[in-house]
Amino acid sequence: MPRLDIAGHVRDIDLVVFDKDGTLINFDHLWAGKMIAAIAATLDEASVGAARDADLEADLYRTLGADPISRRVVPESPLAVASIPALTIVCAAVLYRHGLPWHEAETIAGRAFRPVFQAPPTTTEIRPVGDVAGLMRGLAAAGARLSILTTDDRLGTVATLPILGVERLIDAMVCGDDPIPAKPEPDGLLHLAALAGVEPSRVLMVGDSAGDMVTARRAGAALAVGVLSGTSRADHFAGHADVIVPDIHAIRLAS
Ligand SMILES: [Mg+2]
Repeated sequence: MPRLDIAGHVRDIDLVVFDKDGTLINFDHLWAGKMIAAIAATLDEASVGAARDADLEADLYRTLGADPISRRVVPESPLAVASIPALTIVCAAVLYRHGLPWHEAETIAGRAFRPVFQAPPTTTEIRPVGDVAGLMRGLAAAGARLSILTTDDRLGTVATLPILGVERLIDAMVCGDDPIPAKPEPDGLLHLAALAGVEPSRVLMVGDSAGDMVTARRAGAALAVGVLSGTSRADHFAGHADVIVPDIHAIRLAS
């Protein structure tokens, strides 16, 4: 089994579990762009009166967690960590708060907002965090199994793999719409460990949010590695990550 060195933390690891958004790919580029398109589509259907539509738009951005000007996602916001069904409910709740009856709010969120998030990403929407395929090839060649644990839907996640060139390297995935409790519950990570036939104590979890780190701790993973390539700053990881590194390329084979 490979011995990995993550910024001086050396562990024997049989399975590396990667979060996707903010860990393997640039978070803001994909999801702030989707958010802008989803809110525009929602506003096309949900007018609350010309004088108050700007307030509704601002509240949708604020509550979901993105800045339309900087195109940055707010750390630990719904957009940063929640599933697409959860984001859709948040959208409906904002519409309701601005005066739409609940059933109408829910219908518009489901018809206008949700499909934008569910559409598989295009090649131009995916910006890899460096040479993802190269890193994964090296880990796999050393004998590590590789999995993905993401809150995104399976359709969008499957579509991302060939864009990254890693579809033959990923053994298994647990996605946000799978019938498994989402992060920070440990179930998805434990499921991936069981599929690989690996003890959780030999699993490395890598992610860009505190929820990824809590998942790793609850599952009894060998090491919870927080990366700063996504939505979180170092202080968001405090007390949760075992080690904080700039990005996935700090994962190296121990010499
Ligand atoms: Mg993430």
